[in-house]
Amino acid sequence: MASEQKADILIVDDTPNNLRFLSTTLTEYGYKIRSVTDGSMALTVAQAALPDLILLDIKMPGLDGYEVCQRLKANEKTREIPVIFLSALDEVLDKVKAFTVGGVDYITKPFQLEEVLARIENHLSLQAAREEIRQLNSELEERVRQRTAQLEQEILERQQAQEELLYVALHDVLTGLPNRTWFMERLEQLLKQVKKKPGFKFAVLFLDCDRFRAVNDSLGHIVGDRLLISLARRLESRLRPGSTIARLGGDEFSILLEDIKSVNEATQVAENIHRELTSPFQLSEYEVFSNVSIGIVVSDDNYEQPEHLLRDADAAMYQAKAKGKSCYQVFDLAMYDRAVDSLQLETDLRRGLERDELIPYYQPIVSLRANQIVGFEALVRWNHPQQGLVPPGKFIPIAEETGSIVPIDLCVLRQACHQLRHWQDNGAVDRYVTISVNLSAKHFTSLKLLQQIDKILQSTGLSGRSLKLEITESNIMVNAEFASQIIEQLKSREIELIVDDFGTGYSSLSYLHRLPIDTLKIDRSFVSRMGKNGENTEILRTIISLARNLGMNAIAEGIETQEQLEQLKSLGCEFGQGFLFSRPVEAKEARKLLATGVRG
Ligand code: C2E
Ligand code: MG
Ligand code: MG
Repeated sequence: MASEQKADILIVDDTPNNLRFLSTTLTEYGYKIRSVTDGSMALTVAQAALPDLILLDIKMPGLDGYEVCQRLKANEKTREIPVIFLSALDEVLDKVKAFTVGGVDYITKPFQLEEVLARIENHLSLQAAREEIRQLNSELEERVRQRTAQLEQEILERQQAQEELLYVALHDVLTGLPNRTWFMERLEQLLKQVKKKPGFKFAVLFLDCDRFRAVNDSLGHIVGDRLLISLARRLESRLRPGSTIARLGGDEFSILLEDIKSVNEATQVAENIHRELTSPFQLSEYEVFSNVSIGIVVSDDNYEQPEHLLRDADAAMYQAKAKGKSCYQVFDLAMYDRAVDSLQLETDLRRGLERDELIPYYQPIVSLRANQIVGFEALVRWNHPQQGLVPPGKFIPIAEETGSIVPIDLCVLRQACHQLRHWQDNGAVDRYVTISVNLSAKHFTSLKLLQQIDKILQSTGLSGRSLKLEITESNIMVNAEFASQIIEQLKSREIELIVDDFGTGYSSLSYLHRLPIDTLKIDRSFVSRMGKNGENTEILRTIISLARNLGMNAIAEGIETQEQLEQLKSLGCEFGQGFLFSRPVEAKEARKLLATGVRG
């Protein structure tokens, strides 16, 4: 982009430190910088040689920033220069005033360098685009004046200009990809082809980023935007001929595969995308993992409207999300019913919460060496008045999508803490027995989490030492920096953190050793894959020794057989959990287990 090279920026600030810092840094980024410390000097300098952009402080002796901006805008020569205000004033009225006097943007001090750079870049690009349009317009006008024999050529030029405008209307500004309007028009054309050419098929893949909100909320929308751009580039670079990717809005993308023979071609593309997205995105200093849930719909001649295709692809995507992150799902008609069902489920769930129908079951965690219960994991069940006991897999994914996971987690946390404290008071458990509670990512990235935990510990009288929190691996790694801050806060309350389902996410080992995590809970898929004669134990062995080297404990999930138990023991795994010892049971049953001990 032309604006990236040697744009001339004028900085006006009466604080020498600010001026120096900005001048030096922006110079390092290749900008030509001029700087002045007061308003009237700024006007003179800007007149003498027009800068491409002005960064303007508001509070200055003499002419203040508003006044300077007003004068710049009143002057024919300088009126087009974009002015970004930089100020410690943070009142809405200040900002409104800044825009009223003709500023294009407003950055509050203290500022983030990335933000300043991003905004400068933005306005330089906008300015360049405006300049281009202006030039285009004047060229066109010029041609009209010289109307002769050149009429035909003129029409051509006009067409080109129109095409350019059309291009802008049909593309997404952030990623440069075709936008929703483009996409819907193309779908309409393709639906016509389906009607005309028997056997002609196409597929729509509807992609929605998993955990995009978490990235945006914790790292800020500038990083969020960069993620979307990088994601767009990565997806685009892997497209086969005859397919197009569009951004439909937010974190939703869609891929159109034209002229396919069977649905397998579409599922193949979905699988490739998932593979492609297992490696992280490097967004300045952050390493971010982001994958997508994909809904797939294949055209048939029952479809009359493009909206219906998109609706069905969206419904399939929703199903894919419910299966777990990074899945795909091909649309089938039964999904209408399921979409209606899940809406019903969500309503029922909210009512269930109000009526205390959500209760924890408890599964013992056992010291493999001593064959002794060292704690319990609380696993939520929904005691549904009509359907009986509903397992979490049936409602947690939907609760995560709709946000009701937060009250569910808190409700389980409260009951579990209360239960353990009750057992402690009865002398049913020793002080070292702990309770582990699962938290969803929504919760873990919420700043209110700590407050809520404090409140629950206080009201139940349980010590933080008795509580452990389980977070799935991929959810921690989405933003390891932020996670480490939360974990430190938990540490100060003596609450330990368990990484759940370890081995299935994409842990960056470089982060793992920097995070003050206490325990890795090895995903049960590794345990179930273990052969009778010690086959497939390499990953287990690696994870167990990794945990040991990092000073962490290891818990093996899903131990179902005596053989698995023996092998895990011989691999040196300290703790375990699984049906072999006990299924998750009601509090009353768990109390009995405490008295009788577990088998195994
Ligand atoms: P998780 O935290 O990994 O929990 C372990 C799951 O494995 C539980 O399923 C448990 O019943 C099951 N399990 C334990 N031992 C064995 C075994 O030997 N064999 C087999 N096949 N399975 C075993 P459950 O209770 O259906 O929970 C499923 C998931 O739902 C949990 O996985 C957790 O991610 C989530 N979940 C449960 N309760 C809560 C909650 O209160 N809040 C949140 N956010 N998630 C929860
Ligand atoms: Mg768990
Ligand atoms: Mg688990």
